[in-house]
Amino acid sequence: MGSRLPHPVDVRRAVSSFYCGKIESTDTILVKEYLLSAIPNLKGADFSVEYLEGKQSKTGLHYLYRQNYQGKPVYRGTIKINLDKTGNIISLFDNTYHILETPSGEFPNTDDCYDIIKSIYKEENDIVKILIEDLYFDLGPRLIPASRIELWDKKGNFFELIIDAEQMIVYERDMNDYFNNNKIHDVDTPALARVFNPDPLTTAGVTYGTPYEDASDADISQLNMQRQQVTIDVAFENDTFKLESPYCLITEHSIPVVTPVTSLTPAFEFTRSQDGFEDVNAFYHINVYHDYVQQLGFDNIVDYPIWVDTHGMGGADNSNFSAAGSPPRLSFGEGGVDDAEDTDVVIHEYGHAISHSAAPGTNSGTERTALDEAIGDYFAASYSKSINSFNWENMFSWDGHNEFWNGRVVVSSKHYPENLQNNLYKDAEIWSSTMMQIMDNIGREKTDEILIEALHSFSSNMTMSDAACLVIQADHTLNDGEFAIPIGWWMSQRGFTVCGVGINELSKNHFTVLNSYGFTTRNENAVIQFNSPQTGTIVLTDATGRIIISESFSGSSECKISPKNLSSGIYLTKVTTQNFSSSYKLMKW
Ligand SMILES: [Zn+2]
Repeated sequence: MGSRLPHPVDVRRAVSSFYCGKIESTDTILVKEYLLSAIPNLKGADFSVEYLEGKQSKTGLHYLYRQNYQGKPVYRGTIKINLDKTGNIISLFDNTYHILETPSGEFPNTDDCYDIIKSIYKEENDIVKILIEDLYFDLGPRLIPASRIELWDKKGNFFELIIDAEQMIVYERDMNDYFNNNKIHDVDTPALARVFNPDPLTTAGVTYGTPYEDASDADISQLNMQRQQVTIDVAFENDTFKLESPYCLITEHSIPVVTPVTSLTPAFEFTRSQDGFEDVNAFYHINVYHDYVQQLGFDNIVDYPIWVDTHGMGGADNSNFSAAGSPPRLSFGEGGVDDAEDTDVVIHEYGHAISHSAAPGTNSGTERTALDEAIGDYFAASYSKSINSFNWENMFSWDGHNEFWNGRVVVSSKHYPENLQNNLYKDAEIWSSTMMQIMDNIGREKTDEILIEALHSFSSNMTMSDAACLVIQADHTLNDGEFAIPIGWWMSQRGFTVCGVGINELSKNHFTVLNSYGFTTRNENAVIQFNSPQTGTIVLTDATGRIIISESFSGSSECKISPKNLSSGIYLTKVTTQNFSSSYKLMKW
């Protein structure tokens, strides 16, 4: 996919705030009232707010709301608000629009919308689902009344069109995420299977080339020898073993029609030329990854049997995640190397499902969509590396880096923001490479737990710097900032502006901490500003409890803390006055 000039709705940036207030309750109605009173663009009788989604993470609650104007949605006028369990606002992403007067013009005719659909689809029954709604759409310089048409067809296409009153398509978007019936089974039966783990080149310790090449999916003995025997839990129904688990269902939902493999014995051992091999490979790795995420303590991530078709996409050399249907589904193409033979592709796509599960309705905007690609790449690369570290820096070790395409890497030296190319796949390397550095530093499980917790707070139109802040916050809410220094270090080396680095930079009742970021990174003073003049002491202790600084002040409206002569670490700062006593943490790199 080449670069093209992005539309204004995609380059618009969310206004992000961190640690920016407290709400009495986490009740969605009260939060809505708070938003109506706190967000400038929602002031006035013409505005209302609609609750869209809510999700609970380990340490907080994450709500998505939408701005309505005169009862109609404003396209992507969303607000994402992230709260800890006591109602502190950890972060808020405001994508609302400032509307001074009613946008001029008429809403399109519904008949016109159907005319457009007819011009795309000659056969009406090729369409699975149509949704048409009136809304206000941002053309860049102004908002217009428009209609949004959402279409999902039998080929798996899932896209939206925005049309104006003149029947012009002013915006279109593919809503599937590419990589370039809830049946719960009580009884799981173990079966033997053979898979690539993670891929034949990695386990053989070779690069792509004869005899280690696709050769049109042929049974090359060197490749088949790389299969490893594993145990999988499958379903047993009517004397047949099926690739179905509570969290993954091998299905036929995307052409070509290849019926999912089943077995009369608890054995799923296929060679790579057999269609069953890709079914088993995807099934095994998705279940392993789901179990891993659950073991990290996230029990509501992709908590449904995701549909997986390993012979899909009309045979294209591409794969995708689609939330069009219920449940959402993954489709893998067989062009070039069969995508489902490469665990990097399987887990990359599954990464989109994880992200969609943690932060639904937020994957819009140029940097935000690059982040989603990056997170898929990072999950895949870190998983592969945990199995076998040979050539771990290559993304899509088997599917890419060969005659078909170049693949990607997770060891890019690209720097933010000047190396952004407005291509979500190329830009993804900036974030995925940073996450790999952090993982090498603090370990995979800690990194993943922090990243998945942070993912819940993601918003549309956020930047990579916003994401860096959310990761640092998640470490704070989960681990009390234990990894703030390595995470902050790698993030800032990459060029992300790491706000909220002062890991308790809450505006407390009696005082505000200013410039903790300068304290951490630039050897500047942090400033404690009191709401009224205070008399008392300030004591700074290091991680071992040793007192490093102890000073008293009298009738002061602020105190300065100098980082000079401090070594790297986290410092506890305790302020005691005649009126209050309070502690917070500062960091020095
Ligand atoms: Zn992708």
